[in-house]
Amino acid sequence: MQSLFDLIDSRRDDLIALTQDLIRIPTLNPPGECYLDCCEYLAARLKPRGFAVELLRAHGTPGDSDKHPRWNLVARREGRGGPGETVHFNSHIDVVAIGDGWTTDPFGGELRDGKIYGRGACDMKGGLAASIIAAEAFCDRFPDFAGAVEISGTADEETGGYGGVAWLAEQGYFSPSKVQHVIIPEPLNVDRVCLGHRGVWWAEIETHGRIAHGSMPFLGDSAIRHMGAVVEEMEHVLYPALANKHTAMPVVPPQARQSTMNINSIHGGLPEPEPGYTGFPSAVVAHSARMIIDRRYLIEETGEEVRTEIVDLLERVKARRPDFRYTLNELWSVSPTMTDKAAPVVTAVSKAIATVLGRDPEYVVSPGTYDQKHIDRIGKLHNCIAYGPGILDLAHQPDEYVGVDDMLASAKVMALALVDILKVEA
Ligand SMILES: [Zn+2]
Repeated sequence: MQSLFDLIDSRRDDLIALTQDLIRIPTLNPPGECYLDCCEYLAARLKPRGFAVELLRAHGTPGDSDKHPRWNLVARREGRGGPGETVHFNSHIDVVAIGDGWTTDPFGGELRDGKIYGRGACDMKGGLAASIIAAEAFCDRFPDFAGAVEISGTADEETGGYGGVAWLAEQGYFSPSKVQHVIIPEPLNVDRVCLGHRGVWWAEIETHGRIAHGSMPFLGDSAIRHMGAVVEEMEHVLYPALANKHTAMPVVPPQARQSTMNINSIHGGLPEPEPGYTGFPSAVVAHSARMIIDRRYLIEETGEEVRTEIVDLLERVKARRPDFRYTLNELWSVSPTMTDKAAPVVTAVSKAIATVLGRDPEYVVSPGTYDQKHIDRIGKLHNCIAYGPGILDLAHQPDEYVGVDDMLASAKVMALALVDILKVEA
């Protein structure tokens, strides 16, 4: 296997340049900038290296427009050994807003002390570059393999993945008859195998009141006071209950190894005045208050249980407050997913980590979701993990970077996993 590793090491400069080039394409999402530029760059890279390349626009998906089209790339290289299994590396090409606090150019791709800096360096253009180097090196070293290696660069992961992996899955790109193994090189650290993620349930709770003059609130009914009662019930009953729900999922960080809920926003009464407006608000009782909640749930729970828990809470408040009226609107939900540790892609990557890094992998689960949800639910493909270079905590931060040595190590792990999965005689 040393010859494969030597080949990857010899491509260090290529890996650096590839990562820098990808960072320099500012694929900001929202709104979804430069997706076509990035896909065309990848196509120009992969075509001459024997990959059949498709550029696919997810027409009509959220955010897709002629100004901001949702482009995706799927590249496939088949071995000379005939049919066999397909291993797919999926990376999202979009990056989040820059934010404040940068000391380097966010789209400069500066290389300093063995680290490449820029928005998306860690999440996840470094992972994309590492998987390309891994796939190319494997195909060059073992061109007679049976089966195929695929690489995709997809849109919109940071905003739910509907114009990216979800759409490709709907088109059949992740059906088990086409693809049998998926590795998503998200930044989970070089020695960790990420098996899946917790579930998500977003909902809006609205409490209803009755408007009246603010000097005579007894003539109205304050929706904000009703919402206050909801918050109090959450503090005293729901939050302690959530803290008591533990999971066998190895979620990182460990504080996320329980059910959690974030109150995303609360708005009640008059709308906030426009910026620059200098007048006073009028004296009214709030007729409506709205709260958005972001509940993250465990594989031991169901979405229905999570919903019922909130309905029960609202009903308890109602029983105590005669005029309490509410509506509950479900906004979004994603089931938790966790790939079996015995799944072939897990065992192959785990063995490769042990060989390359000389230590056993850590198995983790992500607190938030990523594109595995679409591969799992729409594609019905359960042999999927996230594995890639970069430190998760740096994602979405200023001065985000990826270490070159980490990228090389993870490229070796990915290439070695290909050798194992595609049963190449090394
Ligand atoms: Zn990511």
